[in-house]
Amino acid sequence: MSEPRVVAPEMAPGEAEASFRPLSFGDFIGQKEACDNLKIFISAARSRGEALDHTLFFGPPGLGKTTLAQIVARELGVGFRATSGPIIAKAGDLAALLTNLEPRDVLFIDEIHRLNPAIEEVLYPAMEDFQLDLIIGEGPAARSVRIDLAPFTLIGATTRSGLLTTPLRERFGIPLRMNFYTPEELEMIVRRGARVLACPVSDDGAREIARGARGTPRVAGRLLRRVRDFAVVADTLPVTRDVADGALNRLGVDQLGLDTMDRRYLSCIAEHYSGGPVGVETLAAALSEQRDTIEEVIEPFLLQQGLLQRTPRGRVLSSSGYAHLGLTPVCRPEQYTLLDDDLEQGGSGDE
Ligand code: ADP
Repeated sequence: MSEPRVVAPEMAPGEAEASFRPLSFGDFIGQKEACDNLKIFISAARSRGEALDHTLFFGPPGLGKTTLAQIVARELGVGFRATSGPIIAKAGDLAALLTNLEPRDVLFIDEIHRLNPAIEEVLYPAMEDFQLDLIIGEGPAARSVRIDLAPFTLIGATTRSGLLTTPLRERFGIPLRMNFYTPEELEMIVRRGARVLACPVSDDGAREIARGARGTPRVAGRLLRRVRDFAVVADTLPVTRDVADGALNRLGVDQLGLDTMDRRYLSCIAEHYSGGPVGVETLAAALSEQRDTIEEVIEPFLLQQGLLQRTPRGRVLSSSGYAHLGLTPVCRPEQYTLLDDDLEQGGSGDE
């Protein structure tokens, strides 16, 4: 069972994020390419008086998919309805949502890869022809009814675009990838958050918090609130680099933004599996974590930082992964084999 993590990119239950959410493109920092494209598509849709094409945001949790969907609706000047894949249990639930949409409204479906396949089937004609085909009743009395819908925009968000079925993926006219944020962008997000919270933070304090935020605005916001708590209680405002550094240490967040869970994951590969390759199922069992948590939450940032490699045979710790743990890489038997084969074939052995 996972313990709560201060660097978890998902929203914790009851977490107060609303005040942090940027409300316009002007406030939304980073993701320049996605935002620039969206602005063009929005202004084209507005000038034609049509609904924006269906849009898919994909990328790790906490990068601003929901925020951007809300901004799109606001910029289009239309209503915004939000739901999530696992919540829609019956075709009737989806029908109720769709029939209540006004023309050009945005329907946001988070975790769209977790939609039930039967409901996905209902979504196809709704997305393509703005029509719903429903079966009403059961047995011989069952009949099919067709309902016309107002043209709408579906914005889907997923952390796992690979799990989306091809027919669903192909129905999105605008697929946009969300990337991890740069340290500079995160620093701006921390400074903006500090203004919202009315918490004085020096430039180097903001930089320090940004460094621990593992490329994710949600983590940046949460770290800022925790650092502020420490500073208020210890009466050390404004938040300077030292104050932020001390608080992050107490929270167990290291120089790269890794927490105890990340280090446990890396150490497990290093110490129990000689640095890998090791399968994700084995790691999940060894760490008593869900496979999904490992693949969606822990690994993306470790991969992005180059601490870990994903190979067809499993996860492998990279030399920077070893260096981060302060360990020396193990030379594995398969590495000798590779080297020998290479030399036999007249290769340089550089591999
Ligand atoms: P996702 O839907 O991808 O999980 P959210 O849109 O819920 O992420 O964003 C998580 C948090 O991060 C929110 O509090 C939001 O205000 C903040 N946030 C996300 N992107 C940005 C950004 N580009 N600039 C400032 N804050 C952001």
